[in-house]
Amino acid sequence: MSKPTLLEAMKQRPLLGDGAMGTQLMMAGLESGACGEEWNLTHPERVLGIQRRYAEAGSDVILTNTFGGSRIMLNRHGNADNVAAINKAGVDIVRQSFKEAGRDGYVIGDIGPFGGLMEPYGEFTEEQVRAAFEEQAQALVDAGADGIIIETQTGLEELGIGIAAAKAAGAKCVIGSMAYDVTLDGSTFRTMMGIDPERAAEFMQEAGADVVALNCGTGMDMPRANEAIQRYKEATALPVMAQPNAGQPKLINMKVVYDETPAEMVKGVVPLLETGTNIVGACCGSTPDHIRAFRGAMDAYFKKG
Ligand SMILES: [Zn+2]
Repeated sequence: MSKPTLLEAMKQRPLLGDGAMGTQLMMAGLESGACGEEWNLTHPERVLGIQRRYAEAGSDVILTNTFGGSRIMLNRHGNADNVAAINKAGVDIVRQSFKEAGRDGYVIGDIGPFGGLMEPYGEFTEEQVRAAFEEQAQALVDAGADGIIIETQTGLEELGIGIAAAKAAGAKCVIGSMAYDVTLDGSTFRTMMGIDPERAAEFMQEAGADVVALNCGTGMDMPRANEAIQRYKEATALPVMAQPNAGQPKLINMKVVYDETPAEMVKGVVPLLETGTNIVGACCGSTPDHIRAFRGAMDAYFKKG
């Protein structure tokens, strides 16, 4: 029997994602503002070390270290010539991490925001952004990624370009992931650009995405993420994915700290499963310890069922 595709696997039973990359890279010595994706080439053993710990903790899917791996982002660090190499290495390192952990898993090619504004508000043309996403998506697919996630998105225009690029590259599973912020009065949440979950889900379905997701955001803890998933499921029948942060970022000694412990965060796992979440992972501030706690909760939940 051949291995199910990522999409088949997540429909058979919920999969466990990974935790934060950015905050883990900082802990491994990456300086603030430096190019973390470049480490796929210059310090692959450090990236591998982080991802192997996620694989060992029980992740079924791991995102490549390519959040800022588009030409536009890499160009800011003088790495525009390394787009293909950095993205390919990103896929190879995740594969290696599963291998070293002795587990089988899925590689999701990660595409983050291009980090600017498009005309008429900014300096980038839609064509430049499209070309950058297409180039990155193609490099990830050519390297063998099982799917692609367009993540931390706040507006539909850039999200749509990303989804189209991933599809054009032949990605077998395309995930669109929004970053929501809880409103000041705490009553609801929407993206910085004013998009709510229903609108995002409808848009993604129309654009041909395979999975509707959320990650990161402000104030989006596990219960809030579950609320977003519920609203997604009212708007679409597509599979859904949640990767909330480990609590609220706090500024301590001029450093951004996320302090929700694995024990606190894991309480939100079963409710997400009950809602029907197909992939449960975590974003900023989460660690292999969080993911290990998630694994335990998921395994216990399915043993009971
Ligand atoms: Zn995050």
